[in-house]
Amino acid sequence: MSKLHVFNAGPCLLPQQVYDRSIDAIKDFKGTGVSVLSISHRTKEWGEVMDEVRANWKELLSIPDDYEVVMLGGGASLQFLYVAMNFLEKKAGYLDTGTWAHKALIEAQGLGNAYAVASSADRNYCYIPKGFEIPKDLDYLHITTNNTIKGTEIKTDMDCPVPLIADMSSDILTRRIDVSKYAMIYGGAQKNAGPAGVAFAIIRKSALGKVSRYIPTMLDYRVHIDKESMFNTPPVFSIFVMNETLKWLKDVGGIDAIHALDEKKAALLYSEIDRNSFFKGTADVEDRSIMNVTFVMAPGKEDLADEFLADAKASGIVGIKGHRSVGGFRASLYNAATIEDVQALVDCMKGFEEKHI
Ligand SMILES: *Cc1c(COP(=O)(O)O)cnc(C)c1O
Repeated sequence: MSKLHVFNAGPCLLPQQVYDRSIDAIKDFKGTGVSVLSISHRTKEWGEVMDEVRANWKELLSIPDDYEVVMLGGGASLQFLYVAMNFLEKKAGYLDTGTWAHKALIEAQGLGNAYAVASSADRNYCYIPKGFEIPKDLDYLHITTNNTIKGTEIKTDMDCPVPLIADMSSDILTRRIDVSKYAMIYGGAQKNAGPAGVAFAIIRKSALGKVSRYIPTMLDYRVHIDKESMFNTPPVFSIFVMNETLKWLKDVGGIDAIHALDEKKAALLYSEIDRNSFFKGTADVEDRSIMNVTFVMAPGKEDLADEFLADAKASGIVGIKGHRSVGGFRASLYNAATIEDVQALVDCMKGFEEKHI
């Protein structure tokens, strides 16, 4: 579609195949003669997409049989409220590892007793807290596996003595996970699983139904599981594009293949950041995210930031300005970004250094 190198943090770059098939379906959905934008969600053809998208999730992540996958509007931010509504009875613990983790905690506090079991706010969330105690009497522990803004990541499935709920918005479908260790996994699609407009939730059915509060119909996961994500009109087009994204991922070899590529892309960029005297990473090395690479100008070189951004723009590099809370730069290396994209950024950083030495 373009010769640009797109590192946007979200909505993310999607594979060309996904754009092409989405365009085709806008013109004619599955040979029905009707656009996917206008197809009734009660048709057989649409029902097939819903079945397929659930099956693709289950296949890609080896989701056990006692879990269900639902697709919902409202983004990951509405899931913050869903989680508390459906799981918070007496007390919930949150691992406070960044901007989104903190927002999830605040949302739960509006409904009951929720608190941070550990936090890395003391150093602007540049690391993942370790060795913290998880009280056995929590209804659940909520974690954010990849901190999209701060550039840190929890890269293993932790052992947890209470139901574990994870926001995996920005690192879902990038590594093999042991779904059975989680009561629930959720995220907004727009950072690796599709376009904006739909969120996914992977829920262990037996973890539901344990709270005594009234749950409004639209916020009750049991309703959406029972109605197979079609209690009301689902975000049809977003789900269509999500399904195409999952199909693409299967075509390129699935989770293990994409994980190997993602690691390679991240290693390429981090090694340049560490080598190049003009740049410096912001996250602790051991907790660095392989999806969102955050870095700044090295000390004393801060006023060159605008010049670097201009050079990057001239090289066709898009979307690397850092989030305002961290500053500097952030390159999001989601699944559709290629080694060539990352190499273009690395070459630009090398060129910048040569120009100034
Ligand atoms: C982007 C993001 C969110 C918010 O997603 P929305 O769909 O915009 O509500 C939540 N959590 C994480 C980890 C994110 O990266």
